Amino acid sequence: MNTIDKFNEHIMPTYGRFDVVLKKGESTTATDENGNEYVDFGSGIGTNSLGFCDEEWADAVSQQAHTLQHTSNYYYTKVSADFADKLTNGCGYSKLFFANSGAEANECAIKLARKYSFDKYGKGRHNIITLVNSFHGRTLLTLTATGQEVFHNYFFPFAGGFIYAPANDTAAFIKLLEEYKDTVCAVMFECIQGEGGVIPLNYDYVSTIAKECAKRDILTICDEVQTGVGRTGKFLASEHYGIKPNITTLAKGLAGGIPIGVCMADEICCDVLTKGMHGSTFGGNPVCCAGGNVVLNRVMNAEFLDEVTRKGEYIKTELLKMEKVKSVSGLGMMIGIELDGIEAASLCKKCLDNGLLVLTAKEKLRLLPPLTITYEQIDKGLEILCSCLKN
Ligand SMILES: *Cc1c(COP(=O)(O)O)cnc(C)c1O
Repeated sequence: MNTIDKFNEHIMPTYGRFDVVLKKGESTTATDENGNEYVDFGSGIGTNSLGFCDEEWADAVSQQAHTLQHTSNYYYTKVSADFADKLTNGCGYSKLFFANSGAEANECAIKLARKYSFDKYGKGRHNIITLVNSFHGRTLLTLTATGQEVFHNYFFPFAGGFIYAPANDTAAFIKLLEEYKDTVCAVMFECIQGEGGVIPLNYDYVSTIAKECAKRDILTICDEVQTGVGRTGKFLASEHYGIKPNITTLAKGLAGGIPIGVCMADEICCDVLTKGMHGSTFGGNPVCCAGGNVVLNRVMNAEFLDEVTRKGEYIKTELLKMEKVKSVSGLGMMIGIELDGIEAASLCKKCLDNGLLVLTAKEKLRLLPPLTITYEQIDKGLEILCSCLKN
């Protein structure tokens, strides 16, 4: 039986997959089982931040697998300590919790915020404001946090305690805060709504959230699962907005394509979750942390980040010259393309057929190229995209 048939017979049909079996990858090129090559403008979904099988990364991961692949969280490991040290210091946070995915990192943030409030104010201050059109994950709680009606179906009953604010509407946000006075413990947002269509929040809106929350002792949670780890040309996208959220979650690109998630907390809330309050069997896995250390060493570097910004600007400029490109959104190498006269899904398929891996986000085409991509590979990918847009 071939791979596709085997897959479909034994794996739940939760994804719309393309009829391609990828076999190997090197740098920013993937190869399928028939030997066809693809330029990678998707990095998985922003996970392979250093491209496919980066030498240094692969060495670190395999060496760790040969040394100590896992211990329970009843013991300490140096590799996880080094990773946490570098990440929290680099981002200005006090402590982190290790999870294995974005949704889990956000679950932790939600639990933390509710307990912070419970410890200080008692019951009743459990509501979390999230934004309309947001995306925070697929667990029942993070699905509820996700401010899109399409996700609030089938799996009833959903958890309570979430209030949805329209993004970029400062007056509406303040009105909600007043309306739900003394019942709100946190506000959670993405600086750039990724799955929602690569839509950046306005500077003023984010400043208002930060300011109004600080006044009321409401925690700010920035979901940087997609925007973090250098994706936007800063290590954290919140740096573009000059804010320092109480909590930041990271996942996707953090370990270069192997599962990890973290919830980082500042000094006012980093000791809220104490022994027995939260946990994860795999959290802080040494192999993932070994990969993460290579990512941090590479990405937490001003020159590297400036290069991400420059490459992003270059891609945007070139895109705007192309037919059927109506507008371009995003920051750094997190790019959304509004199209005119072609559906994003059909363009995505057409790109694939012509040797380019891209993503969609709602009705937009979405590009999340590996942060290490060369200009040569960028040009190669853009050329394919340009020709796919032509006819
Ligand atoms: C992908 C994503 C998540 C969910 O991450 P998983 O690893 O799939 O659980 C949460 N928030 C944002 C902003 C994301 O882009």
